[in-house]
Amino acid sequence: MNQRSDFNLFFFPVLALLVLLSTSFRSLDTLQDEDAPKHAKKAHVRPKLDVIVLDAGHGGRDAGAIGTNGYMEKQAALAIILKLGALIKKTLPDVRVVYTRQSDTFIELDRRGAIANEQHGKLFISVHCNSTPEKPSKARGFTTYILRPGKTDAAISVAARENAVIALEDNSERYSKLSDLDFILTSMSRSHDVKFSERFASLVQKQFRTHVATKDNGVSQAGFYVLIGASMPNVLIETGFISNPKEEALLRSSAGQRKFAVGILDAIKNYKEVYERS
Ligand SMILES: [Zn+2]
Repeated sequence: MNQRSDFNLFFFPVLALLVLLSTSFRSLDTLQDEDAPKHAKKAHVRPKLDVIVLDAGHGGRDAGAIGTNGYMEKQAALAIILKLGALIKKTLPDVRVVYTRQSDTFIELDRRGAIANEQHGKLFISVHCNSTPEKPSKARGFTTYILRPGKTDAAISVAARENAVIALEDNSERYSKLSDLDFILTSMSRSHDVKFSERFASLVQKQFRTHVATKDNGVSQAGFYVLIGASMPNVLIETGFISNPKEEALLRSSAGQRKFAVGILDAIKNYKEVYERS
């Protein structure tokens, strides 16, 4: 009995204290709930596509792929990017354009993503030209890539060619640890961005079907180092095959470059509406 009354002596005050505490916590919660609208009920801020980062592939000592008639990927990429930037400034005045390069300079792959992050880019567009190992070849058409582990041999070899530029960089061993797992983890941690990247990629392909009309090779995925660093929706566009003399001529001509630029511009306009409604 003694033991039981000892227990009661201990138990009831503790129970009372717990009840009191839970009540006061609940009243605190209620207070917070009542207070919440003042602090938390802010108007939903719609995302704004206000900064677009334009990345002309290669540059400087990195020519990229070279056509059979000598035109270089770095030249085509820069020409298309500069035309695109001018079109954006003209037609989308509320968008700020950031370039990773505006001249024939060598920019490291990870620096390109860093520029995009520092400038608070909302969309990162990297422009390149495709190529086959043997030249000339009849391979043709356009592909837009998003960052994910490569699924097909063709996609993996495109990424290997685009990533090969690191051999020209100082301290290139910093990339060596990037594996398929990194690409999986990066795309998982940025699933929201990947969804938007896919959306933009398919819009680029759609607009190229109208404006460029060579061959639609679809949206594909592979592990591009340049995309891993840009923490925002991002794509890498292989505009055409510089290893195909016909497409090399298209990429070299001002009219051809303009077709690619207008195609990307219209994809941006479509995407801007979707993005800002989200
Ligand atoms: Zn390239």
